Amino acid sequence: MIGEIITIGNELISGRVCDLNSFFLSGRASSFGLEIRYISSVGDDEDRIIDSLNRAVNRSDFIMVSGGLGPTDDDITAEVAARFFNRELIADKTFLSSIERAIKKRGLPWVEAYRKMAHIPEGALLIDPKGHACGFYLHYDAGVKTIPVFFLPGVPAEVQKLAESKVLPILLADGEKDVVRQRVFKLFGLQEAQIGEMLHDLSAGEPNVLIGYYPNFPENHVTVTVRAATGSLADERLAVVESQVDQRLGRYLVAKDEATIESEVGRMLKNKNMTLAVAESCTGGLISKRLTSVSGSSEYFERGLVTYSNRSKYELLGVDTQTLAKHGAVSRQTAIRMAEGVKTRSAVSIGLATTGIAGPTGATPGKPVGTVYLALSALSKTKVKRYHFLGTREQITSLTSQMALSWLQRFLTDDTVFFGD
Ligand code: ATP
Ligand code: MG
Repeated sequence: MIGEIITIGNELISGRVCDLNSFFLSGRASSFGLEIRYISSVGDDEDRIIDSLNRAVNRSDFIMVSGGLGPTDDDITAEVAARFFNRELIADKTFLSSIERAIKKRGLPWVEAYRKMAHIPEGALLIDPKGHACGFYLHYDAGVKTIPVFFLPGVPAEVQKLAESKVLPILLADGEKDVVRQRVFKLFGLQEAQIGEMLHDLSAGEPNVLIGYYPNFPENHVTVTVRAATGSLADERLAVVESQVDQRLGRYLVAKDEATIESEVGRMLKNKNMTLAVAESCTGGLISKRLTSVSGSSEYFERGLVTYSNRSKYELLGVDTQTLAKHGAVSRQTAIRMAEGVKTRSAVSIGLATTGIAGPTGATPGKPVGTVYLALSALSKTKVKRYHFLGTREQITSLTSQMALSWLQRFLTDDTVFFGD
């Protein structure tokens, strides 16, 4: 089944709002093996929307439209749909009463414009008859086939909920009966081209195995999608490809599917009953922010200090003034003392520290922009390493935080290998 997405709204074609709905809808459809061939955005203009719909029904098997179903004057999608399908626009009683109920429940005053929202083309089906979010669908008769056309609201959260719970299940029930399974591999430390070279034979000549590459700086994500006649066949097919990918790329793998490097590090710290404190200079709190984005992180994350100045490195971490004066804030010696200081003063199992020059200013002779020291102190040992990251200030801090998390993951996987490196 070949699909197409049309997003409607002046804000989308004038660069005021980034089109999140196409992004979400195409991602979800693809993960279920539904191929999206075209995505277009069009302003709030009746003739141009009709134009887009005409083009879509001539080349696609299903269409998802979003935007312009609300109560205001610029919301014209329902009228345009009625015109396109040559139907009357009529008030849907079920929908009207669910809107009334939702308004009452929230204690909001009734505005006559809400009545407009309940108008849908005659014969259209509500996407979620029990809910109060708008959205309907119709089947376009293209002679040899009928094409479902879904009209969804514009608000991304509503689109996501309706697509997930209603639209995709309707499409999948209508379409092919094949079962699709997908796994996402999150990798760090390899270029996209290298990954492609290492995996390309897995899908070559295999129409039921699809490999996708998605750079997600500083990680690279790879999706493996398999298709089979039954669920157990699909599981088996996925397991075979998965073990191949694990074998070839395992050492660069940081997480799978919904998991992230942050959540993996958290899981491992919890399993080992270890606690962590972080002292950050050039990353300005980014590592702490990422670690605490995981719910339940208070179980292992003791504290994060942003020790930006020399004074704070001395006062909060006990980095001695001679070290700072002799070697500078961005040095192997300072990084070591920062990691050891934050570990001792916080009484935790692991102390982690970063110090570096994120740029674009601040370079000194021998220490160009992107010079970063990482240090990790645990089990009476401290490892320190100098890196030279390239890129903008944002890319350098992002890479530093990622490398720090990767250090934690490698330490927690095997500390002998980690300290032996
Ligand atoms: P409402 O009842 O809020 O008017 P609606 O169904 O009429 O909803 P729109 O008016 O088109 O939808 O958009 C509602 C909000 O969602 C606006 O803030 C709009 O910028 C945003 N929006 C619409 N389409 C998209 C999109 N494709 N991607 C991201 N945001 C979008
Ligand atoms: Mg609107």
